[in-house]
Amino acid sequence: MTATAPITQDVHTIPRKMPEGPVNLVGMTRDKMREVLIANGTPEKQAKMRVGQIWQWIYQWGVRDFDAMTNLAKAYRAELAEKFVIEVPEVVTKQVSSDGTRKYLVRIAGGHEVEVVYIPEDGRGTLCVSSQVGCTLTCSFCHTGTQKLVRNLTAAEIIGQVMVARDDLDEWPVPGAVKDETRLLSNIVLMGMGEPLYNFENVRDAMKIAMDAEGIQLSRRRITLSTSGVVPEIWRTAQEIGCQLAVSFHATTDDVRDKLVPINKRWNIEELLDALRSYPKVSNSERITFEYVMLHGVNDSDEDARRLVKLIDGIPAKINLIPFNEWPGAPYKRSSNNRIRAFADIIYKAGYASPIRTPRGEDIMAACGQLKSATERARKSRRQIEADAGLN
Ligand code: SAH
Ligand code: SF4
Repeated sequence: MTATAPITQDVHTIPRKMPEGPVNLVGMTRDKMREVLIANGTPEKQAKMRVGQIWQWIYQWGVRDFDAMTNLAKAYRAELAEKFVIEVPEVVTKQVSSDGTRKYLVRIAGGHEVEVVYIPEDGRGTLCVSSQVGCTLTCSFCHTGTQKLVRNLTAAEIIGQVMVARDDLDEWPVPGAVKDETRLLSNIVLMGMGEPLYNFENVRDAMKIAMDAEGIQLSRRRITLSTSGVVPEIWRTAQEIGCQLAVSFHATTDDVRDKLVPINKRWNIEELLDALRSYPKVSNSERITFEYVMLHGVNDSDEDARRLVKLIDGIPAKINLIPFNEWPGAPYKRSSNNRIRAFADIIYKAGYASPIRTPRGEDIMAACGQLKSATERARKSRRQIEADAGLN
């Protein structure tokens, strides 16, 4: 018998690390940017100033090309261009609704796609930003919830959504021009695909960039993070981001909330309310927004409205009623307008603002809970969704 030659592999011929491409400067904190500049040859003494200059070009003026950074020496610009890129997600399609809402499908590394929605309103406007591709949670009324989590977005991909929207709105200021205080993109809501508090660090870093005084300059009061109720991270949001908080409340008993927002089985209504009570003080922010999706016959009775008012007693709050947006195969129906108005009235009379959210961009599936990239639609059947929701 002839001995078979042992299969060996010369590990030295295999590169330990694939050669890395240029590093994207977008999404880094100032400290991180300083670190990578130094690691790539920028003298330590100059690094802070260089960060300030590059930061301003990227986030204040919207520049993507190092050669346009005219306050840097030509040779240094060339060096930067060799080692770094300024990269934002690629817009694959843009749809404009009859009501002016714009929905962008953007492609990120790995070929994944997420949706970003711009909702204009009297010369101002809100950008609804995604934080994950899909979602690990499975709220039974949410279209995104039928799509499995693919991955968290990086900070670059999160702030990049804001940057591509500003590109499309042609809203980068021109150096030297008179400062225009009106902003087409005046607010950010983290209400797109994904649970932002399951991607905390990236969301935090991206929002810090959005708030930075030498860049996009959005006040923390104009940024609202919506969570389904990841209780331990709510406290951290107050401490480390300090933005406005919205919570997907949606039910007034644990039984119903367990079915609608399954994370309730982990942190129930009482635990959630405890966290919410301390949020305004710790974050020095105003009211908490309670989001409440109106589902016919499920959570929309007068009794629910009265229970809701009792539960939130003592919390500075506004209740945002969201008429359910239907999607193909959804196991619920939208409550009637009369029902929604009656529900709103009870809350209003108890002393809380109770605006009813007008669905926007429905014709292009851009409304709340309808987001889901066309390429990754789940194959779940209606029956499966109903079974998960505990409806049969
Ligand atoms: N994951 C986060 C943020 C994204 S969802 C969260 O759950 O809070 C943004 C809002 O839209 C949430 O309040 C969510 O409950 C709501 N929503 C989801 N699907 C909906 C639908 N089909 N109709 C109306 N609102 C929906
Ligand atoms: Fe995820 Fe929010 Fe949809 Fe729930 S409502 S499945 S948390 S995106």
